[in-house]
Amino acid sequence: MGAAAGQAPEVLVVGAGVVGASVAWHLAARGADAVVLDAGAGPGAGSTARATGGFRHQFATAPNVRLSVLARERLRRFADDTGGDAGFRAVGYLFLAHDAAALAAFRAARAVQHACGVADAAELTPEAAAALNPHVDLDGAVGAAWCPSDGTFRPMQILRRYLDDAERRGARVRWEARVSRVERDAGGRVTRVHAGAESWAPRVVVNAAGPWAAGVAALCGVDLPVRPVRRQIAVTAPVPAPLDDGFPMTIWTRDAFHLRVRDGRALLNWPVDTPGAGGDPWDLTLHRPWLDAVRAFADARVPALRGVPLDDAAHWVGLYEMSPDKTLILGVDPACPNLVLANGSSGHGVMHAPATGLLASELALDGRATTLDARPFRPTRFAEGEAFPVSDLL
Ligand SMILES: Cc1cc2nc3c(=O)[nH]c(=O)nc-3n(C[C@H](O)[C@H](O)[C@H](O)COP(=O)(O)OP(=O)(O)OC[C@H]3O[C@@H](n4cnc5c(N)ncnc54)[C@H](O)[C@@H]3O)c2cc1C
Repeated sequence: MGAAAGQAPEVLVVGAGVVGASVAWHLAARGADAVVLDAGAGPGAGSTARATGGFRHQFATAPNVRLSVLARERLRRFADDTGGDAGFRAVGYLFLAHDAAALAAFRAARAVQHACGVADAAELTPEAAAALNPHVDLDGAVGAAWCPSDGTFRPMQILRRYLDDAERRGARVRWEARVSRVERDAGGRVTRVHAGAESWAPRVVVNAAGPWAAGVAALCGVDLPVRPVRRQIAVTAPVPAPLDDGFPMTIWTRDAFHLRVRDGRALLNWPVDTPGAGGDPWDLTLHRPWLDAVRAFADARVPALRGVPLDDAAHWVGLYEMSPDKTLILGVDPACPNLVLANGSSGHGVMHAPATGLLASELALDGRATTLDARPFRPTRFAEGEAFPVSDLL
């Protein structure tokens, strides 16, 4: 197909998950001509529909904390911007520490959080943590990290609203449009993108393909270190009062088991690697031995959940889009000068999407991010020996 009218948008966004939707909205809000292509039949084909919806400021590195602060700021104006409701609820994140090393790590992280303006991040004694969340067994905890402005939201509401409002502002969205071939010039620049029967000749391409991002990058000649990592969520039957959706996100730092309550059911998350069927990392079959371990954690740690059955029809499996340092990769790789990468958030992609979308739109339209210094997230950081320290608290 030739470059017919409408086939040469200013920016082509590959992927209509929450990141692509946010990029599209921020482009459309500036009046840019944007097209979004997604392989799925409709919104939610990727990881965004499988996220539980946690939001935190409590990271250990300044760039990640700043990303959260910017995202929270965008979420505060989400209704005014898009006319929709992100479903944000400030239930807080409560990280339990069971040894001095964990407490020291939280203190160091808190100094970073305070320096970035997260004034309400605080250390709690075990007694104060017990008063805050009386439903969990704090046996052995030596303290806790708490931030009341952390919370929960509705990933699919954010995705849908960004996308709908981007379309209202002129963005075009194509479903069942899998990008399968890319043409490039001698300098490595993308000149044409093929998806199904259509092709496009954009000035800039944004890769927002979530766990599939490495495949899209490879079509553009870029070696992107993002891989799919399976994560499972166990869901209980409705929980008894007084447990309700106001339950803070509570995390046992020593093994990362954590839970929250959503729509009256506990969502249990123990983010460890489990094999897909036949060892396939893309396979989304539930690994059942993991369920037994999670059940045992819940029984031991949340007395009110003892006797509450798991709802076997409700558990789910999804994919983190994991980067080597578990942090966003945002920027341009020299191998393809007109491809903006917005990938690899490694399980933090929804919470940071309002910021990632803004910064990616600036990179696409202005050639650099202006709202925030995006250099720490640059794709070349791995080769330059400037990757983030791998643990960012969860
Ligand atoms: C169990 C679980 C719990 C999570 N909990 C949280 C949480 O509490 N908080 C949080 O912030 N994050 C959480 N995450 C992570 C979050 O889901 C992701 O970081 C986020 O959804 C990534 O968004 P995305 O738009 O980059 O990717 P996706 O939502 O995966 O969207 C990518 C899109 O790209 C499309 N696509 C792929 N290949 C192509 C192609 N070749 N051509 C066209 N389209 C293509 C796909 O169809 C898909 O729609 C969780 C993830 C899982 C699995």
